[in-house]
Amino acid sequence: MQAHIPTMFLMVIVVSLTMATCTAALWRRGQTEGLGYWTVALALHGTTFILYSLRNIVPDYLTIILANLLLISVFTLFSEALLEFHQQRMSRLWLWWPVAVVGPLSLLEAETLRILVVALLSCYQAALLLVILGRNRAQTAGRGQYFVMVGAVMGLAIMCYRAVGAALGMGQLQITSSTPLQMITFLVSAIVMILTSMGLVLMTKERTDARNRMLALHDELTGLPNRRYSLEVLTRWLAGMERGRQPLSLMMLDIDHFKRINDTHGHLTGDRSLQQLADILRARLRTQDHVGRLGGEEFLVILPNTTASGAHELAETLRRSVEQMASDSGDSSAPNMTISIGVCTLEADTRLNPEEAIDRADAALYQAKQKGRNRIETAEVRVVTTPAAAPHESPRVPPAAAGSAPAP
Ligand code: GH3
Ligand code: MG
Ligand code: MG
Repeated sequence: MQAHIPTMFLMVIVVSLTMATCTAALWRRGQTEGLGYWTVALALHGTTFILYSLRNIVPDYLTIILANLLLISVFTLFSEALLEFHQQRMSRLWLWWPVAVVGPLSLLEAETLRILVVALLSCYQAALLLVILGRNRAQTAGRGQYFVMVGAVMGLAIMCYRAVGAALGMGQLQITSSTPLQMITFLVSAIVMILTSMGLVLMTKERTDARNRMLALHDELTGLPNRRYSLEVLTRWLAGMERGRQPLSLMMLDIDHFKRINDTHGHLTGDRSLQQLADILRARLRTQDHVGRLGGEEFLVILPNTTASGAHELAETLRRSVEQMASDSGDSSAPNMTISIGVCTLEADTRLNPEEAIDRADAALYQAKQKGRNRIETAEVRVVTTPAAAPHESPRVPPAAAGSAPAP
């Protein structure tokens, strides 16, 4: 198949400028998604191909030197865009030296040598793009990054092929040659622009989605999972208990006389106390444990694979840490704070829904408050199983009885 080069130029120009318009439409001042750099890069790519299409019409310094300069700037700007997206820095030298050297090297008389130079510089830039993507792969949400990766790999492959072609003197690599390699080069150029631009737009959307999900499931003040998220986690653990043979413990924590702290020290100090408590909880719990703020000054802790004695021991550690929080802080104006904790341990054969399980821990917490606060009470959950009960039938659970713990 013979390529009609002017048509291929037109295709690349239309694709690049259309994608530039799309990314420009998504760009907002102050945003740090890299869309500004990306838009300029796409516009430069379109301009490069406009200059190519004017070969032999306008002076060579425009269609060779300027066109090469713009083409090499495109990938550097892509890298700048990705670095901005990831809020990272890289020495400008790594990014911009190809742009600095391509102008003088474009003055080389031998066309094959010029083609080799541009191909090698483009290979370096595509590889750099892949390095930036690879470094951030684990922290990047979603699949958009893979679109950019595939685009960069395609760009790298075609530029390596052109470099080898130029080095081996395969010929017919001139910009206006109507050869299969030229046709593939232009086709790949258009695909790379589409794939990478779609990828960045998708990355932006996926990151916004992830942030929104995070905001919807976390408490703003403490950064802890909120009630909805905590109930989801508890539901999953309770469902998992039917398969496993491990106990699950829950804790309901409530700050004692928190209203007084607010009234005496002010709401801002109250907020800071909530944050400090959240920090203590985060620091003391294991990675598989979950702590969430159910609302106000109430927290839920989910302790998988934890027996009643293990949960009680941890509750005591937490209670003591909070009690000592003010003196540990070294701030004489810090309010003294204590917490009461209701603990409830569910054995593997206990069948409770999340609300029932929380009710049990809440009942124990109520007992702790009744008995003077700054203490731990344990709810005993006894399950009466009937031999005839069908496997899916809920066993009868007697109301929780709160067992008292020794007063601290
Ligand atoms: P108890 O020992 O019985 O738990 O007494 P309490 O004062 O802690 O309980 P109460 O339910 O009477 O008061 C809870 C207080 O928590 C009232 C509310 O103003 C305060 N509170 C709830 N959410 C926040 C918050 O986000 N920041 C601050 N500073 N205070 C909060
Ligand atoms: Mg309270
Ligand atoms: Mg409360």
